[in-house]
Amino acid sequence: MTEPTHDEAHGGALGARLNWLRAAVLGANDGIVSTAGLVVGVAGATSDRSALLTAGLAGLLAGSLSMAAGEYVSVSTQRDSEKAALAQEKRELREQPEAELEELTELLEQRGLSRDVALEAAQQLTERDALRAHARVELGIDPDELTNPWHAAWASFLAFTAGALLPLLAIVLPPSGWRVPVTVVSVVGALVLTGWSSARLGAAAPGRAVLRNVGGGLLAMGVTYGVGVLLGAAGV
Ligand SMILES: [Zn+2]
Repeated sequence: MTEPTHDEAHGGALGARLNWLRAAVLGANDGIVSTAGLVVGVAGATSDRSALLTAGLAGLLAGSLSMAAGEYVSVSTQRDSEKAALAQEKRELREQPEAELEELTELLEQRGLSRDVALEAAQQLTERDALRAHARVELGIDPDELTNPWHAAWASFLAFTAGALLPLLAIVLPPSGWRVPVTVVSVVGALVLTGWSSARLGAAAPGRAVLRNVGGGLLAMGVTYGVGVLLGAAGV
């Protein structure tokens, strides 16, 4: 009788893992594009390596910290609302257990069980752990596995940093004349990879996603490089 919930739990866990992976790829993508735009822009204005390193590092830290803070806030808010929903469910289970059993039965019926089987399943689930059953079937959350805001914040910090390191190293390591070409080529390569992965993880066709992603990155670098060259030439 626990079969449907069992299957669903597996689907949910896999879905959650894919969401994490997708968020990591998108975070890395952000780190690549924003840092590449920044360092290529500075390289348009100056060939001073320490200026490039300073700008790149500042961009890396500013970006990764802002991503982490944003993620912390949004996951905390989500967690608060999940906790509130669980508290309300707990209260309803205490105050009107019969209505709650009927509700669970109907939810199971909607998933394709016959009335008798659904009632039997709902009774067994309620006996074992009523709150958990309602949380899963009704709210779609696992009370033991609420997303931790600190984990989410760390994950985006690391993902952005990993992405940002590529253009940062590509701009400071090569000799002066090679910096921009090396950065553009390695950024395009990385954006093909992140565009392709995020499309595959979202079950979309990779071709267009890769083109859009690379196009966005080239646009960012083109604009900032142009501005950097103009400012450098003007001696600002
Ligand atoms: Zn309920």
